[in-house]
Amino acid sequence: MLDYHASPDLLNDKVILVTGAGDGIGRQAALHFGAHGATIILLGKTVKKLEAVYDELLAQGSPEPAIIPLDLQGANKQHYLDMAETIKQQFGRLDGVLFNAGHLGVLGPFEMIGEDEWDKVMQINLKSQFLMTQALLPLLKATPAASVIYTSSGVGKQGRAYWGSYAISKFATEGMMEVLADEFDDSGVRFNCINPGATRTDMRARAYPGEDPATLRTPREIMPLYLYLMGNDSQHINGQSLAAQPDKIRPRASQ
Ligand code: NDP
Repeated sequence: MLDYHASPDLLNDKVILVTGAGDGIGRQAALHFGAHGATIILLGKTVKKLEAVYDELLAQGSPEPAIIPLDLQGANKQHYLDMAETIKQQFGRLDGVLFNAGHLGVLGPFEMIGEDEWDKVMQINLKSQFLMTQALLPLLKATPAASVIYTSSGVGKQGRAYWGSYAISKFATEGMMEVLADEFDDSGVRFNCINPGATRTDMRARAYPGEDPATLRTPREIMPLYLYLMGNDSQHINGQSLAAQPDKIRPRASQ
């Protein structure tokens, strides 16, 4: 676990977009970024969940957040361009993005992956990130030190049987991060990946229904790396794929 203690004002004056902010790791990251001074734009599918995080941010004294309800499955290029324009109008800047929303899909034999299922996983986990990154780049380039974090996985670094489309989407996410990091080197915008490791969330429970969630680290416990990569203390780090926790519990079976 990264031994990093973020200063309380680490993210003061920054505007940060978090996708999948209503639940699990994204919810916790939104709360942590907000607690360190950032104004959070909460993007997700289920409005009720986003509203609950909005209320929690206000209750903990964070700057007033914003909500963008969006189903990444159905969103197209124009949705992302409109979203970027709204952020520009409302905040005038964007300093960071945590691409965290993810869809597990159906785990099973490669020969059984349906075309629709493949398309759904690739749309939510990969294409949405491509389109959103393109749309947001003008805003990110305009700010002095922007940090973009994508969310990877253990199976995005080493393929594993039955994790088909999800694993392949995470490999592609790592690839996109590396392309961008190289292309925008020294531009003021940096790109990195976080592999959360086995973490106590609904997605993990769906992937490992027989596992005792109490054996897993919570989203809160893995936040040091999220804060470090989002803030300016890590300004020299670009093009890296970092693990939020040591893979102690299941050496080759974290998601
Ligand atoms: P959760 O299932 O708890 O949360 C996923 C989030 O993504 C939810 O807020 C969900 O919104 C949102 N989301 C899913 N589909 C869409 C969509 N179509 N449009 C908009 N938002 C969507 O998952 P985790 O917190 O566990 O996972 C977060 C990230 O970490 C994912 O990228 C996952 O792949 C990755 N990861 C997780 C690990 C773990 O052990 N938990 C390990 C390795 C990687 P809603 O609730 O409204 O559906």
